[in-house]
Amino acid sequence: MFLIEITSTSAVAGDRNTIGGWPILDPGQPWPVCRCGTRMALFFQLDLPPDVPTFGGDHLLAFQCPRHNEACFPPREKQLPPLYWNQPPPPNEMSFWRILRQGAGVTAATADPYLQPLRLMLERAEEAGDRNGNGTFAFKVGGLPAWLQGPEHYRCACGSELAFLGQVPENLGFPKQPEAAEQIDSFSANEYCMFLGNEIYLLACPARCDPAAVWPVNQN
Ligand SMILES: [Zn+2]
Ligand SMILES: [Zn+2]
Repeated sequence: MFLIEITSTSAVAGDRNTIGGWPILDPGQPWPVCRCGTRMALFFQLDLPPDVPTFGGDHLLAFQCPRHNEACFPPREKQLPPLYWNQPPPPNEMSFWRILRQGAGVTAATADPYLQPLRLMLERAEEAGDRNGNGTFAFKVGGLPAWLQGPEHYRCACGSELAFLGQVPENLGFPKQPEAAEQIDSFSANEYCMFLGNEIYLLACPARCDPAAVWPVNQN
């Protein structure tokens, strides 16, 4: 697995491992827009190291609407419906997030206006797993999920079992730009959070049926 550290070094256009900053999107992939019409904030992006199983070599981007902050609730069915990234199953009302896995991409012309552009540093670490197969609680990609409430498994709309891609720890703060509004329902006046600060498990489609075929399991 690779541990992810938010550094205090400012990111610049072209940096591939960042919070905030300039998203690197596939040509033809527009900057994600929430159902409410607001352009989403870039929370983080990073190149998945080549030796991350299944997903290595992809560029991962995690967006969330700056005006919507909610949990992603577990669906009743293990089988996710078609286009679940656009229209998530109940009790979720709408998709205010977009998590993308793409190829090389091109740097966007403008930077995210909400979050401070800061570089991320990835560091390889051993993941042993405890006797229940639980991994380490950390901001990480690869390795094993560290479940707070027990494992959750889902099947992609395409029929593939979603696989563990990475984890965002509870109450991880993303420093906001001084001029950006405070985030609704954040735990901090100076930081944004994803999914109300829940522990987030990114489960992604190993068949790559769609760049957005990622389900963000929340636990607390
Ligand atoms: Zn929104
Ligand atoms: Zn799929």
